[in-house]
Amino acid sequence: MLLIKCPWCGERAETEFSYGGEAGISRPPEPDALSDAEWADYLFMRKNPRGSHQELWNHSQGCRRWFGVTRDTVTYRIEASYRLHSSDEG
Ligand SMILES: [Zn+2]
Repeated sequence: MLLIKCPWCGERAETEFSYGGEAGISRPPEPDALSDAEWADYLFMRKNPRGSHQELWNHSQGCRRWFGVTRDTVTYRIEASYRLHSSDEG
């Protein structure tokens, strides 16, 4: 069973978490200025790398907080888990 380390709760079983997709994607500041292709790229195109990947996870069966995970997509090894904002309090 894969263990995921919640930055607040510690290591828990994968079944307590929900995957939230690729991390680091920002909403364009002026969506109306984008072409349809650029908007579609923002909405749908993701990196899907082989190897190290930045991901969002939610501890949905625990503290319900979102956090970031660096996971190797080949080995499933989690290299790091971290709070998304330095202002997040413990
Ligand atoms: Zn948690």
